[in-house]
Amino acid sequence: MKQYDPTVQQYVPTIQQALAWDRKHLWHPYTSTEDPLPVYPVSHAEGVRIYLADGTELIDGMSSWWCAVHGYNHPVLNAAVETQIGKMSHVMFGGLTHQPAIALGKELLKMLPDGFDWIFYADSGSVAVEVALKMAIQYQQSLGETQRDHFVTIRRGYHGDTWHAMSVCDPVTGMHSIFGTALPQQHFLAPPAVKWGEPWRDDAMEPLRQVLAQHGEQIAALILEPIVQGAGGMYFYHPNYLVEARKLCDQYGVLLIFDEIATGFGRTGRMFAMEHAGVLPDIVTLGKALTGGYMTLSAIVTTQRVAETVCRGEAGCFMHGPTFMANPLACSVALASLQLLQREPTLERVAKIEAQLKRELAPASTFAGVTEVRVLGTIGVIELDEPVDMAFMQRRFVELGIWVRPFGRLCYIMPPYIIQPDELTQLTTGLLTVVQEMVTRQSR
Ligand SMILES: *Cc1c(COP(=O)(O)O)cnc(C)c1O
Repeated sequence: MKQYDPTVQQYVPTIQQALAWDRKHLWHPYTSTEDPLPVYPVSHAEGVRIYLADGTELIDGMSSWWCAVHGYNHPVLNAAVETQIGKMSHVMFGGLTHQPAIALGKELLKMLPDGFDWIFYADSGSVAVEVALKMAIQYQQSLGETQRDHFVTIRRGYHGDTWHAMSVCDPVTGMHSIFGTALPQQHFLAPPAVKWGEPWRDDAMEPLRQVLAQHGEQIAALILEPIVQGAGGMYFYHPNYLVEARKLCDQYGVLLIFDEIATGFGRTGRMFAMEHAGVLPDIVTLGKALTGGYMTLSAIVTTQRVAETVCRGEAGCFMHGPTFMANPLACSVALASLQLLQREPTLERVAKIEAQLKRELAPASTFAGVTEVRVLGTIGVIELDEPVDMAFMQRRFVELGIWVRPFGRLCYIMPPYIIQPDELTQLTTGLLTVVQEMVTRQSR
């Protein structure tokens, strides 16, 4: 492995041995221990490129699952971590505070639309969702609405892998059949019927109206991903859905939670997806790109009204406090990432990537076996009629020098914002080639 660390080398002298050990002992996400697909050993990453141990260069189409918006090994982000590590890597947040947490908080409130006041830092996206749901319950209890112990959400959503987060994920792709009755039961709506770019129809609100009319008194909050449903289906919908959902939530005393963990920080063409609709939720969850992909951190941001109501309740405070809350290293790199996003022409870059993706992915819409091609911000999606053969596609992408990881019927890319036009062309060309090969194999 290039730049092979000698302390690692004493454990695994060759890359083959390392991979054999990995295959026998390391669990990878959503992967069987019995017959895992091959994993590719990465030696380092730089800019938009991931370098494999054998020297293969891959242009990154995934931003490591929405995170690495500035690319890898960024000098400014590196410097932020290095400076902070010389001061302290961590101190508890109970009874103590520090500059990185404060500065990041100020920057977050500055970047978010006006109307938010309170920030709760947590460890990961899934935990942020748990925190948001707990906050909604404590808010309702404080108002004496103790019967509001359920949530409503839309199908094909994705909100994370922990318990209550999982309960509001799509029931089909979200593992509900596996965990069955052990999972809390929530109310599910059809995905917003009007797609992004289609003319608005008011009947799109019927499912929400009906659920609220029937169960409104039992519901603490509506949680959804604004505009873009990510890992649950890569579906883009009309902003007016959020405008109308806001009104209905207010009418029924239901809190509105926007999960911007995937969509936040420019990905959809606005700094936050909620800005497409001009609607404020009561609680917003942020994560993924928050630290520019350097480490795990999430933030739950809410209004003065929610915060004070929660804290006037029986408990007298919000009942959550992670050990690594507001980790200074994570806060420092997040602050540096937010500064970069604002200093650089982020939204112009995203708009250029969007235009190029639209141009270069369009030919796929004529392929037999392709259901739809859609692009929003830096997100490009090719939806196939049939689920893909992951093993085949993964291998072919690597052979063509690009890193793309499809799921189900969806082949999609969301590259780092720093990607150059020629690199993006290499990514889209490779994607189209492999999609064409895939649908040809499927039709045989
Ligand atoms: C990824 C994701 C999560 C979960 O975040 P983790 O950091 O993986 O726990 C929650 N909500 C949305 C919308 C996501 O995309």
